[in-house]
Amino acid sequence: MPSKANPAPELTVVVPVFNEAANIGELVRRLAAALATCVASFEIVFVDDGSSDGTLAALCAARDADPRVDAISFSRNFGKEVAIAAGLDHARGRAVVIIDADLQHPPEVIPAMIAKWREGYENVYGQRTDRMGDAPLRRALTRRFYTLFEQFGETPLPPGAGDFRLLDRKAVNALLRMRERARFSKGLYAWIGFKSIGVPFAVAERANGASKFSYGKLTRFALDGLTSFSTLPLKVWTFIGMTISFFALTATAYFIARTMMSGVDVPGYASLIVSVMFFAGVQLLSLGVIGEYIGRIFAEVKGRPLYIVARHLSVDEQELRIDSQQGMGRAAE
Ligand code: UDP
Ligand code: MG
Repeated sequence: MPSKANPAPELTVVVPVFNEAANIGELVRRLAAALATCVASFEIVFVDDGSSDGTLAALCAARDADPRVDAISFSRNFGKEVAIAAGLDHARGRAVVIIDADLQHPPEVIPAMIAKWREGYENVYGQRTDRMGDAPLRRALTRRFYTLFEQFGETPLPPGAGDFRLLDRKAVNALLRMRERARFSKGLYAWIGFKSIGVPFAVAERANGASKFSYGKLTRFALDGLTSFSTLPLKVWTFIGMTISFFALTATAYFIARTMMSGVDVPGYASLIVSVMFFAGVQLLSLGVIGEYIGRIFAEVKGRPLYIVARHLSVDEQELRIDSQQGMGRAAE
């Protein structure tokens, strides 16, 4: 609730952080410098995604130094996508910028995004001009994934668009209504629509530390993306099944005719084993695909909260103030 003492700012910057202690000071400094002249007021909402290094301490220090900084800390690691959702939940600005903590997204690009926002664009995405910051294998796999998404996905994604973007309050409110657990934010930003435009930027090198995404994590994320935005993997089995059944029926008719004409033929053991194995494989594969979707349906219907907050710095401070006031009251009695 925006109070008189702490009115809602014009812009909120949302930063998901997972073990980024070394990057926080520099990020706040560069954000403050970039935003000083282009917005009337701003707040920076960090979402500490269950860090195990000194990230929370660094966030407390940043808040002590500048009250425009606030932070929510999760009870454990919930993943970057959920951290972004939590940041949007707590953002109060008329516009929200989402940015990585590792300085790969240059804060100096934000004024250009704000200029586009003031022109009336509600969904202003940073558009990577290259992916040179990533390892070659990762770049190749990413490209493969986006080609696949383009073919199967039911929502077209703008090329080079990622999480670094500015969203108008209207777009943020639209995203807030999507509480799905298997979150593929890039798809969600495209799905909501609104007047969109790209602002090109060059991805910088990671300032400190290493990428938090292992290939395993990226694979799970890719599966989430495909299953949240396409039902084609489910439907394709109808056609595969129909084609196989057609061949099976044709073969049946052929074998009946041949048996009637020239009697029973004993050989054929090898081809029998091969076809049994092949069809067992096809069936297990299709069951596996269905399983992927059922697992996600199960996760959704449980209806658990998206994340659990362990600490919220500004709220904790208020509670501390109330507690100490009550404590003083009691002492005076
Ligand atoms: N991040 C997060 N939770 C995670 C993994 C990453 O909040 O489980 C944050 C991370 O701290 C960073 C951003 O998401 O601010 C992007 O992560 P990273 O730089 O590791 O990803 P990459 O740039 O390699 O895609
Ligand atoms: Mg990064």
